[in-house]
Amino acid sequence: SRAWTLVSRPKGSPTMENFALRETPDQPLNDGEIRVANSFFSVDPYMRPRMDEGEDSYIAPFALNAPMTGAAVGRVVETRSDRFKVGDRVSHFLGWRDRATLRAEDALSLPDGELKDESFLDVLGAIGMTAYFGLFDVAEAKPGDVVFVSAAAGAVGSLVVQIAKLRGMTVIGSAGGTEKCDFVRGLGADHVIDYKSPGPFEDKLRAAAPDGLDVYFDNVGGEQLDAAMGIANRDARFAICGMIGMYNSDAPIGFSNLFRVISKRLQIRGFINSDFMARRSECLAQMGYWVSKGLIQSRYTTFEGLESGPEAFFSLFSGGNTGKALVHVGG
Ligand code: NDP
Repeated sequence: SRAWTLVSRPKGSPTMENFALRETPDQPLNDGEIRVANSFFSVDPYMRPRMDEGEDSYIAPFALNAPMTGAAVGRVVETRSDRFKVGDRVSHFLGWRDRATLRAEDALSLPDGELKDESFLDVLGAIGMTAYFGLFDVAEAKPGDVVFVSAAAGAVGSLVVQIAKLRGMTVIGSAGGTEKCDFVRGLGADHVIDYKSPGPFEDKLRAAAPDGLDVYFDNVGGEQLDAAMGIANRDARFAICGMIGMYNSDAPIGFSNLFRVISKRLQIRGFINSDFMARRSECLAQMGYWVSKGLIQSRYTTFEGLESGPEAFFSLFSGGNTGKALVHVGG
């Protein structure tokens, strides 16, 4: 099988030189193991901090010269476990490769049927949990709230826009460029801001939210987080999900509105989707219901072939993806 390895740690933006595609012969399975032919694997922004050494992240850094990992979906092609038979659809964490060998208990059984493989790396996987628990639990968003979400055309953001509308909130989304803004409007957002258009972001946010914000779902950090603190209402809740705008930079961050955390009694809370693993079935039931009723649209930016892995990953930082970025490996 072939797998992408990290051969050097990126300085700033990652480049092709940081990666190598390596081939290793498949060993015979041990008792309790399965072999999976991956159909898709996920590329995610959090993988960038994992490429740094000793990064104070929530997941161990990638080892150099070892196959990289991440979420993947595929079919069992060989098994020495009675948990799975050949042909079963599973998800697991050995992405960035075409075939994965793992212990059966490290794979999650997925239902057969009409749902596409892609959906288990998106709305019915970790991305769905991030949007659902981030919005409803971490930010305690409720009907009638004014909610601002950044990177609203991306995987997490596009779900947040839709589920916030389904629960009766007013939604403001930000994205880069006219095409993405039109996409976010099509998801049902009440106001959309092109953060790449000229002028201070805070002015644009204030114009879109004349009554202030009750909730900010932060995917990017930096200027948009600062602006949200600037115009937030008293007791507003901030779910700090990600800070993609800062992952490739070591530059110190300045906030001009930080004092507002005190004056407005802002509740700012970071979270990781896995914090909510014990409640995964609640999320799946609700998201699954909305998907089955056609109330949630999914959009994928799919890169073809294992070879395209790094390119797919780079696209996250240049805004090359709309909806969930995935690599199609086969099947
Ligand atoms: P996305 O699909 O949203 O892809 C990233 C998007 O971020 C790009 O498409 C781009 O959109 C935008 N972007 C890139 N660089 C910048 C920048 N400098 N400033 C503003 N926007 C930028 O990725 P995900 O949905 O997977 O992840 C979104 C965020 O959520 C990330 O910060 C990620 O780390 C975080 N996350 C956190 C999780 C958790 O458990 N806490 C779980 C999953 C994700 P545009 O073209 O609009 O700029």
